[in-house]
Amino acid sequence: MRECRAAVITEHNKPLTIQRVPIPDLDPGALLVRITASTLCGTDIHRWHGPLGGGDTLPIITGHEPCGIVEEINGKRTDILGNPVKPGDRIVWSYVACGSCYYCSVAVQPCICPDRASWGHNRADQFPFLLGSVSEYMYVPPPCLIIKVPDNVTSASAAASACAYRTIMHGFDRLGAVKAHETILIQGSGPLGSFAAAVAKDHGAKQVMMIGAPAPRLEVAKRMGADLVLNLDDEPDAKKRRQWARDHTGGRGADVVIQVANNAAVPEGLTMLRGGGRYLHIGAGGKGMIPVEAMPQQMDFLHVRSAEPRHWLQAIDFLSTRKDRFPFEDMISASYKLEEVNEAMAAMESYKVVKAVIEFAY
Ligand SMILES: [Zn+2]
Ligand SMILES: [Zn+2]
Repeated sequence: MRECRAAVITEHNKPLTIQRVPIPDLDPGALLVRITASTLCGTDIHRWHGPLGGGDTLPIITGHEPCGIVEEINGKRTDILGNPVKPGDRIVWSYVACGSCYYCSVAVQPCICPDRASWGHNRADQFPFLLGSVSEYMYVPPPCLIIKVPDNVTSASAAASACAYRTIMHGFDRLGAVKAHETILIQGSGPLGSFAAAVAKDHGAKQVMMIGAPAPRLEVAKRMGADLVLNLDDEPDAKKRRQWARDHTGGRGADVVIQVANNAAVPEGLTMLRGGGRYLHIGAGGKGMIPVEAMPQQMDFLHVRSAEPRHWLQAIDFLSTRKDRFPFEDMISASYKLEEVNEAMAAMESYKVVKAVIEFAY
């Protein structure tokens, strides 16, 4: 059996090891993709520290943000727009929902399908083996929708669209139209926050504000469209942060608050939202208690989990068509080789980098 090299978690909190993993035979409609770049995500760090619900067991190939070049296809495939896919095409691909459960077929909300397949937590010793992105090859199951990557989008940015950026596109989909007079305040200055700043600006927001840390991430956010930033390290007092938000929004609070930090940020974010505003809750992890009596009147609370296949396409299109307006490559702040995966994981964990990428040279 053919094999390739991949970064495998064999024990939680222990260094990942580079192992040889089988390259499986392809089911009809499946693809084998040679990975060009895999960006790392906070979720990869959480999964390294312990299973994230769902009863995942080790060993797993880490990573769920891949971009790669089609090496083999079993049969004929088309992309999400109906164009033929051939070996040599550079692609990203969506997660797969079951298509027949209540959420898929009645509610038409496949991103919360309980049987949805996703990457970066699948056993590396069971078929189809290659479902983690920090690997020389990945197996693309037959129902995945395929999105071709235009030449002017780097593999690293395309990889980040496979999780971080498409989640933001999903968020703006749920948010609806952004009006020209609106202020959008973003809680969190990681890659999701910076990408949200760019989309907010692009969608016509009058003002984009951001609260986050550390300073280098906020500098990137400013280049990505944030007009005003507040460094959490400089302002540890939540009351003063709230005052800062009010001072720049006519005393009302922001029209829209987007939370891309963690659950604990939600109660504070609600104090920065105007009555009748929209709160977009994306960042997971941690715990938060909401005092219901203090919620802004007439507000909308929108929760976003992951994304649907069209959001992968929207993220790739945004990267390609807004390339001259926003410095997307600034968000990928450190590049590593496969053998350096532990350094890359440590850099992500310490927030030393905005986003780390593992790049594969052949
Ligand atoms: Zn992710
Ligand atoms: Zn389903």
